[in-house]
Amino acid sequence: MTDDRRTQLAQNLARVEDRIFTACAKAGRPRDEVNLIVVTKTYPASDVRLLAELGVRQVAENRDQEAAPKAAECADLPLTWHFVGQLQTNKVRSVAGYAGIVQSVDRARLVTALSKEAVRAEREVGCLIQVALDAESGERGARGGVAPDGVEALADAIAGAQGLRLDGVMTVAPLAGPFAGRQLAAFERLMEISTDLRATHPAANMVSAGMSSDLEDAVAAGATHVRVGTAVLGVRPRLG
Ligand SMILES: *Cc1c(COP(=O)(O)O)cnc(C)c1O
Repeated sequence: MTDDRRTQLAQNLARVEDRIFTACAKAGRPRDEVNLIVVTKTYPASDVRLLAELGVRQVAENRDQEAAPKAAECADLPLTWHFVGQLQTNKVRSVAGYAGIVQSVDRARLVTALSKEAVRAEREVGCLIQVALDAESGERGARGGVAPDGVEALADAIAGAQGLRLDGVMTVAPLAGPFAGRQLAAFERLMEISTDLRATHPAANMVSAGMSSDLEDAVAAGATHVRVGTAVLGVRPRLG
């Protein structure tokens, strides 16, 4: 069984690698500018272990209840864990214990909580600001994220917070609003936001965008990180 699963994961990884390679070539970008993060939500720790054996170094999860035990089971593996889900402040202590990077930072209260727990755990936690391209000024997106005009204040808060490192921006292509169905335009807008951010925070150069269905658009727009679940692990049995 494990051998079958390993073969399947290896084939899927090769296909995704091919897609990233082709998209980079088309965009005139070196392949090593784009990092693959495999989203392992709903899949067991045994899959994470196989992925690590196959060379994967970055994995992502979106629910602490699932991620915490999985990360603990895989603590011996050379992996960076990304947290990509909406994060409640009461889960921050747990998440700060295993996440190298939290990609879903979208409000000042979360910055305060993450900073406190990172210091307490004596860890440095990387932060990406999740941008909701469909959110109105001052509001948050339906699936989390700060409106574009809130990025600057949040960036300053993260940069000034102990235990945190401002790494860049992340988005999920909106399902509604002016960017619905226009992934490339959405990711290009995120790149503009990243360019503005880097003017004041030059080290915050990560741009996380693109999933199984739209990673080509993300690479074309300039993303540095793509988050791929289904195309590597298979269709999830339930919404995750
Ligand atoms: C699940 C998830 C992904 C991966 O989506 P796939 O379509 O399975 O590739 C990427 N980003 C976030 C934030 C997710 O929750």
